[in-house]
Amino acid sequence: MKVFEMKVFGKKDFKKITDFLRKPGLDIKIKVNADCAGMTSYRAGGKCKALIEAGSETALSALVKYLADSNAGYFILGEGTNVLFNDGYIDLFVIKLTGDFDKIALAGNGCISAGAAASLQKLVIFAAKHSLDLSFLAGIPGTVGGAVAGNSGTTVKGICSSIKEARYLYVSNGFYGYRNYPLKTADYGYRFCILPDMAIITGILIAPETAEREDILKTIRKNIKNKKRSQPIGSRSPGCFFKNPSGSSISAGEMIDDCGLKGFHFGDCVISEKHANFIINSGNASASDVFVLSKIAAGIVKNKFNIELESEVKLVGF
Ligand SMILES: Cc1cc2nc3c(=O)[nH]c(=O)nc-3n(C[C@H](O)[C@H](O)[C@H](O)COP(=O)(O)OP(=O)(O)OC[C@H]3O[C@@H](n4cnc5c(N)ncnc54)[C@H](O)[C@@H]3O)c2cc1C
Repeated sequence: MKVFEMKVFGKKDFKKITDFLRKPGLDIKIKVNADCAGMTSYRAGGKCKALIEAGSETALSALVKYLADSNAGYFILGEGTNVLFNDGYIDLFVIKLTGDFDKIALAGNGCISAGAAASLQKLVIFAAKHSLDLSFLAGIPGTVGGAVAGNSGTTVKGICSSIKEARYLYVSNGFYGYRNYPLKTADYGYRFCILPDMAIITGILIAPETAEREDILKTIRKNIKNKKRSQPIGSRSPGCFFKNPSGSSISAGEMIDDCGLKGFHFGDCVISEKHANFIINSGNASASDVFVLSKIAAGIVKNKFNIELESEVKLVGF
């Protein structure tokens, strides 16, 4: 999770930052006092200092350099399908990538280049059209950047194993720059990918396996159908709330189900009847409703299985 520490600064400093960001010529859009609930699939949470959209590498590096030099904390957001912002006021600038970062193209030698802001599902379909198989990612919402940051995928395979190179903006001891980084197996694992120097992923070069186009499309349809059958797709949630514990033969969802927690409510959120690892905002849940219900579920699982469930969802401002 990309959260940078900041010093508390006053209204004047805030105005200086927003004035800088509004300078003509910088491909940056800024919305101050932005509503965090609208930024995520959970539709819960408070407000942040500002939502800033950067549309080019030049804009992004200028923005990040300025915020870091000003000791202003920031958080990189993809599509917000794996994030829960806390209620109240969150002392962070939220950065989203747009424009130049939202591109997908063939890159030769069976590779595809994709920007971090591109939709993961558009990438899956683009690949299939060129007989390149990313069907294991079918049905996972969000952006390419978010998928790389969490090595999204199935329990057995994540996107990172298909990536040749990640491009990122690094921030290290006052130095900033872009780097093309050949991803190594040591950099990622189940639901994590750790890149050096507080990287902001800007794009990837991905080399999927080849297969017959019709076979890939068939698998995509099958995988989406399975997801719809087994998960409450379309509900306000970030997908599975907890990671599956390593070394356990049963999943986090099965443990929660075994504890009889399907349908259990707290405030306006509920553990899904369809899939026990989905904690759903069933109305106007606050982030703290979600947080408390997740703690109740994790506590009951701990009592029964002696296993600490770890959140897969990135909790911001808690
Ligand atoms: C219905 C549903 C089903 C889901 N099914 C699956 C599934 O089968 N498998 C699975 O793995 N996940 C699943 N998810 C979770 C989620 O969709 C994935 O984790 C997705 O890849 C997150 O992408 P995002 O763009 O929404 O990232 P966000 O939620 O916006 O961010 C997630 C994390 O990535 C970081 N991040 C985002 N962009 C960048 C960037 N450019 N550089 C650096 N860090 C970045 C953020 O800081 C944050 O820490 C599901 C979610 C839902 C709602």
